[in-house]
Amino acid sequence: MYDVAVVGGGPAGLTAAIYSVRANRKVLVLEAAACGGQIINTTEIENYPATPKITGLEFGQTLQKQAEDLGVEIEFETVEKIIDKGDYKLVKTEDDQYRAKVVILACGTEPRTLSLDNESKFTGRGVSYCATCDGSFYKSRTVAVNGGGNTALQEALYLADMAGKVYLIHRRDEFRGNQALVQKLKKKDNVEFVLSANVVALNGDRKLESITISQNGETKELKVDALFVAIGRIPKAKGLVDGLKLDEYGFVDAGENCATNIPGIFVAGDVRKKEIRQLVTATSDGAIAATEALNFDRK
Ligand code: NAP
Repeated sequence: MYDVAVVGGGPAGLTAAIYSVRANRKVLVLEAAACGGQIINTTEIENYPATPKITGLEFGQTLQKQAEDLGVEIEFETVEKIIDKGDYKLVKTEDDQYRAKVVILACGTEPRTLSLDNESKFTGRGVSYCATCDGSFYKSRTVAVNGGGNTALQEALYLADMAGKVYLIHRRDEFRGNQALVQKLKKKDNVEFVLSANVVALNGDRKLESITISQNGETKELKVDALFVAIGRIPKAKGLVDGLKLDEYGFVDAGENCATNIPGIFVAGDVRKKEIRQLVTATSDGAIAATEALNFDRK
């Protein structure tokens, strides 16, 4: 029996694990892919206090090592179901099951897709959800980024430094993301803004060759080698715990104390309903969720 099982090895989950293990708890982190979460796809982190410049990958690796050195156990398995057994929670993965007194959900989000025909067929063949992961395949080529938030703006900036041409396609004529990023993009000669436009079709044979956009009631085709979809992310909590209260978008409905409606189940990071999803708010949640979990365990 573990004292604490943490679902997700991103900044929120690993921070929760570090706080728990330092309080002398037996802690298991279950991570589906690689530790570090979304942040490992970020080229450079500049806004984490006392860490002026670090790559996302380095941040994730350092955090993982810090947790392991302190005694956190990490298993690379996908959690499929968490069952509340009263005194303990049963955490079922695809191959195994674990018992823990408390569970901290820090399972994050996944990219929202455009829900277009061919989208899954072309994923990895021109359609990507991560410019820092796949951008370098398109040096000097023509690419498009779809979205108007900070992710889309940052991805367009990143791609502008390597691609020949970047179309930035957004469904409205103003951006939700940071204006400073918009201004930087406006100064790039190889970036073209395509506003009030939606991507309506992905064309090609074995890989993406062009996209069709709809703009002001007209459709037109843009030849592109890649489309980077950056239209937000969806929480990964659906179906994980029966009876868990989610908001209308599927984020776990818990207040600032990170306690869910199910006693002994806490939530931290991007999967929690909250205003600001940043590295610093994820780690903050991790500390709070772990501390609340310790208080629960003592009762
Ligand atoms: P986001 O802020 O939710 O933006 C998603 C964008 O996609 C919006 O512009 C939205 O358009 C558009 N969109 C949504 N669904 C669409 C659809 N079906 N078709 C076309 N466009 C669609 O998501 P995000 O950019 O991934 O950012 C998530 C959070 O992380 C935000 O809080 C963001 O500030 C934060 N973030 C911060 C940084 C940083 O360095 N500070 C970097 C990245 C992300 P509308 O605007 O019309 O709704």
